[in-house]
Amino acid sequence: MSQKDNLFLTVSEVQQRIINHTKAVEGIEQVDLRQALNRILAKDVTATFNTPPCDNSAMDGYAFLSQDITGSDPLTLRIVGHSFAGHPYQGKVASGEAIRIMTGAQVPVDVDTVVMQEHTETPDEHTVKITTVPKAFANVRKEGDDLTTGHTFLTQGKKISPTDLAFLATQGIAEVHVTRKLRVAFFSTGDELRSIGETLGEGDIYDSNRYSLYGLLKNMDVELIDMGVIPDDRDAIETAFINASNMADAVITSGGVSVGEADFVKETLEKIGQINFWKIAMKPGKPLAYGTMGKSVFFGLPGNPVAVIATFYQFVQPALKRMKGQTSVLPLMIQAKTSEFIKKRAGRTDFQRGILEQSETGELTVRNAGMQASHVLTAMSQANCFMVIPADSGCIEVGQMVDVQPFEGLTD
Ligand code: AMP
Ligand code: MG
Repeated sequence: MSQKDNLFLTVSEVQQRIINHTKAVEGIEQVDLRQALNRILAKDVTATFNTPPCDNSAMDGYAFLSQDITGSDPLTLRIVGHSFAGHPYQGKVASGEAIRIMTGAQVPVDVDTVVMQEHTETPDEHTVKITTVPKAFANVRKEGDDLTTGHTFLTQGKKISPTDLAFLATQGIAEVHVTRKLRVAFFSTGDELRSIGETLGEGDIYDSNRYSLYGLLKNMDVELIDMGVIPDDRDAIETAFINASNMADAVITSGGVSVGEADFVKETLEKIGQINFWKIAMKPGKPLAYGTMGKSVFFGLPGNPVAVIATFYQFVQPALKRMKGQTSVLPLMIQAKTSEFIKKRAGRTDFQRGILEQSETGELTVRNAGMQASHVLTAMSQANCFMVIPADSGCIEVGQMVDVQPFEGLTD
């Protein structure tokens, strides 16, 4: 490593610094159960009754007493009634008796075993012959199998999934405490940037980062404040930063933080906030400005379109998750076998755009999604993962294992 390289921070150092620095915003909302989907739970939820609330049948069949079982000998029992889902049997069941029972129907206290219908014959409407005798207590779902009264079944900080909606519904819970939505302001900087609908002059390009950021943030279920394109002008930049930080919990910009950019972005940020300018040993996405401006957290992402997405995914998303009160924040990393030679120069951690596939035998393989340059969206669009290749690694031969981060919210 050269002297200059020593100034670089690693991806995980920066992740740790950001995670240590950000904390959950204050504010709790009580929302209807359906509105709680994908929100972050602000309080633990405890069961107030057992679920299932009573013993019930796991099968369509006949319920009877296990004491009637004598080894595997067929049993002939008298049918004394029935228990259907929502229509429990009200009478008694004695030895030598059975009731017809359906899946989910209450198993009366007297009986403890259910035989599935397929293992029975009914010579007449009052008689059931059990041809294949089940084990005692078979096919009965016990009261409280899933939840017992007092058990904390969802903990603060969990992102509420479709399953969790069902889980809460089993407890009859109509409203849930969730953390309030984050307000995130974002804008692009650069004199070359035109917004859609404007005509491109010579050397101009359309602002695309505001759209990737829109999508990434939308998928995180935050309130968006799109502040448009801000020209490379000292006053305009300062006004935009101040406005954004007054409105939002987090401010995200792209462009203007790389070496060679007009110094006033840096000067402005230093004047109105406590901002660190980091050089990160990653590719794409070397420069990153991070800190606080007023009450808001600030992220100055690099301008290149792929670098925006890569740095958002590694640093902004974990920080916003923390701010939402989420407990699990870092991107999932798994391993896959390379099905192609992967070009890599030692020095920085590469986040190469990859296509993760599953072979017929179930093996995960990964290949290059196309041209790996930080201004090229083609491969980023084709990709469904980042291949994370460590800083000290050189090229990777076919058949080697590499770390892979499947995209969350970028592709489906
Ligand atoms: P900068 O970090 O401002 O030096 O920008 C680095 C590269 O990213 C330059 O080629 C810019 O033109 C490009 N760039 C910056 N912002 C955007 C944007 N919002 N949309 C598309 N390209 C951008
Ligand atoms: Mg620029």
